[in-house]
Amino acid sequence: MTILVAGAGPSGAHLACLLACKGIKVTLVDKLKSSKDNNFSSAALPLKSLRDHSVPLQSISSYWNKWQIYDPYGSNYQWTSSVPLGVVLDFSILRESLWERAKKLGVEVLIGWEVMTVISRNTHAQVVLNSSFGQAINRNFQLVVDATGQTRALLKKHCKNTINTNQKLLTGTGIEFLIKVDNKTSQKWKNCLTFFIGNKWIPHGYGWVFPMKDNNLKVGICQLPPTNRKNVITNSYAIKRLIRNLELDKFNILDKHGGAIRSTIDRSDMLTSGRIIGVGDAISTANLLGGEGIRHAMKSAEVLASFIIKKYNFECKAYTNNKSIDIKSYRKDLSKAFDWRWKLANRIAKRTWWGLSGADSDNRLFLLIKHLNKKMSAEEISALLFDYRFERYGLRILPYLFRWK
Ligand SMILES: Cc1cc2nc3c(=O)[nH]c(=O)nc-3n(C[C@H](O)[C@H](O)[C@H](O)COP(=O)(O)OP(=O)(O)OC[C@H]3O[C@@H](n4cnc5c(N)ncnc54)[C@H](O)[C@@H]3O)c2cc1C
Repeated sequence: MTILVAGAGPSGAHLACLLACKGIKVTLVDKLKSSKDNNFSSAALPLKSLRDHSVPLQSISSYWNKWQIYDPYGSNYQWTSSVPLGVVLDFSILRESLWERAKKLGVEVLIGWEVMTVISRNTHAQVVLNSSFGQAINRNFQLVVDATGQTRALLKKHCKNTINTNQKLLTGTGIEFLIKVDNKTSQKWKNCLTFFIGNKWIPHGYGWVFPMKDNNLKVGICQLPPTNRKNVITNSYAIKRLIRNLELDKFNILDKHGGAIRSTIDRSDMLTSGRIIGVGDAISTANLLGGEGIRHAMKSAEVLASFIIKKYNFECKAYTNNKSIDIKSYRKDLSKAFDWRWKLANRIAKRTWWGLSGADSDNRLFLLIKHLNKKMSAEEISALLFDYRFERYGLRILPYLFRWK
């Protein structure tokens, strides 16, 4: 069996490695010319993910053990742990290291190639690939994986509607600058994930400063306004204002990048079309609460790898005469991996980011942050934001659980 994985981000590259480990022939393709292109992800992760998903250690740029939040009125709150709680990765090194790992495992890695079309036939998928230098080739594969991220490039082309129900695809857009600062300034942001929440900073979203090695800082802004409503202010205006307010505007900007994060609340996306099957952001595994999806993308790759190895491998022969992939068990396995907590976090995210505009919402946030400051440790904040442990809110979470909100 030969499988084409379209998209070599965290989900696609990790999947290719997992399949190659089991002796499956894989071709991994990305339209990027280099891992450094469109280096969009802030890539903050909890420590546990490194082990859970075998994240290449060389991609770690810094460790953090502290949370810091600037509230809507500019006051600052901190929660510190005596041990590291997480890492900030260099996203381009993460991609590069996963590509190197894949090559070592025997995966054919084609960088600078875009998957243009996929035609599902009875016995195979016919694929057209275009290179960045203008070459086009036709190749046949038994299965094509759409790991093209939030663009859902292949599933979108081949499904009339990529979402199963009347759910909407919620979209956040982010922009981030990589800034080289001096030693003294770097110390201020060291070992800490810092967030800016409230209308003073940005409506319908949040800003952040994450530390990187060599005195570099990732400074970003993300907005998730209600569907069909435009951003209240542009991200580029908001990020410049944030950088000016933090007195970082005198430093050198090394890179500017940005992107979108898009998910359905309940991950009700179409998972397949013909011989195409989706993974990662392409099927809404990113969570909108913290705008994070690397570990979820890698987890979904693990779910798909075992589905392919366990089930599809056996069914491959039968499948040659049957156009649709039996995805029931894939959906079930995904539901187990991304359980009610994941969905609840997404529902709370929608409520929080959509509702964040005006003085009332600032006041609500102020009270929430004050409450967290009084009642919670740094470890508990991590459990809330990364493990989605909302139990401490007791009955207040019920309306979200039962979809009343
Ligand atoms: C501003 C911003 C900040 C973020 N910060 C964090 C964070 O702090 N922590 C975190 O965990 N997550 C964060 N995320 C989300 C995270 O980056 C994504 O969830 C994750 O990268 C998804 O992985 P993926 O492999 O599914 O998709 P992607 O990483 O998007 O990879 C998809 C790949 O497919 C390629 N591709 C697309 N179309 C084609 C085609 N037709 N043919 C070939 N290749 C194609 C693309 O070039 C791309 O490399 C952030 C996202 C944004 C936008």
